[in-house]
Amino acid sequence: MKPNIAIIGAGLAGLTLARELAEHAHITLFEKARGLGGRMSTRRNDTHQWDHGAQFFTARTPAFQAMLAPFIDNGTVAEWQPNITTLSPNKAPFKRPWFEPHYVATPAMNRLLKDMAEGLDVRLQTRAAALVQQQEQWQLLDENEQLLGEYDWVISSAPLPQTQELLPAELLGNRLDAYQMLPCYALLLAVDDAALPVWDAASVNDSPVRWVAFNHRLPGRNHQAGAVVVHTTPEWSTTHLEDDQEQVKQQLIDTFCTLTGVSADAITQAQLHRWRYALSAEVEAPEAGFVLNPHHRLAACGDWCLGGRVEAAFTSARQLAEALQRQL
Ligand SMILES: Cc1cc2nc3c(=O)[nH]c(=O)nc-3n(C[C@H](O)[C@H](O)[C@H](O)COP(=O)(O)OP(=O)(O)OC[C@H]3O[C@@H](n4cnc5c(N)ncnc54)[C@H](O)[C@@H]3O)c2cc1C
Repeated sequence: MKPNIAIIGAGLAGLTLARELAEHAHITLFEKARGLGGRMSTRRNDTHQWDHGAQFFTARTPAFQAMLAPFIDNGTVAEWQPNITTLSPNKAPFKRPWFEPHYVATPAMNRLLKDMAEGLDVRLQTRAAALVQQQEQWQLLDENEQLLGEYDWVISSAPLPQTQELLPAELLGNRLDAYQMLPCYALLLAVDDAALPVWDAASVNDSPVRWVAFNHRLPGRNHQAGAVVVHTTPEWSTTHLEDDQEQVKQQLIDTFCTLTGVSADAITQAQLHRWRYALSAEVEAPEAGFVLNPHHRLAACGDWCLGGRVEAAFTSARQLAEALQRQL
């Protein structure tokens, strides 16, 4: 009989794992958010859309290239060849070439995850909050202590701190302590497109800001022009994580205007998103790209196991799937 597996989190890692294990097990995915995306989410309103998490991804391994190939063929994923610049306060911008292909999903970053989820059992708006061991199985409970189901295996693909809240520490040992996640602010602006510089995106040095993208200039975007995404550095974000959010927003608007020369009058909308668990610190020579306790039938995967990128999330989930296929 096929085992029942609960996967917590339907980001790229959770969906990759579910697809890889679909023939070997009955899989149910639990996702606390209203929609799919995780840190590859897209925010929309009546006029604009912003990819406020991952901006692009690379595909360095043959396995990730093979996974993406059908999505590139059907147009869900497109190569992004931006006019990209480097900005520093008080220095002239200089053009910054990219030497390998960079990809985005179209018409929005979360589209890839929506396509990947087709045919999978994904329970949205369902937060997994606790596990109770019942003989050979795990009972999974939500935050109201309601039973979500009984499973042979429970696997978390949530960011590290949320995985630590859910999986019993003593069963996973100290292994989760080896990993670390860092925050990032995303400032989302609607700006008169005529006021924006000609470049598409900028990597920023010596500033609270590390990245600026004119999101509407990515391939296949069909919302109104002038959608700007600004990301902060992990250091600045950590220092200002609990600051008054209105003040953070205003400071970042001012920084954006100074860096780009855009007048504040050209900004018609501004929102701030605080990613508490955005990026992972680089993991040095990890033992494995996942955490697995076969005796208790618990596991965890995600970008944080391998260094905080979209491709790392894929690789971690795929490596875990290979290891699990030997156990099931
Ligand atoms: C601001 C920002 C910029 C980035 N830029 C880039 C970039 O340019 N290039 C790049 O390659 N990568 C980038 N990344 C990193 C990239 O987004 C991640 O590496 C990747 O999306 C991680 O996928 P994942 O599936 O491991 O985790 P996630 O996408 O975080 O998925 C985990 C899911 O678990 C859900 N969840 C958590 N707890 C629970 C619970 N208790 N119950 C149910 N569901 C739960 C969450 O809602 C989430 O959907 C960026 C990330 C951020 C935040």
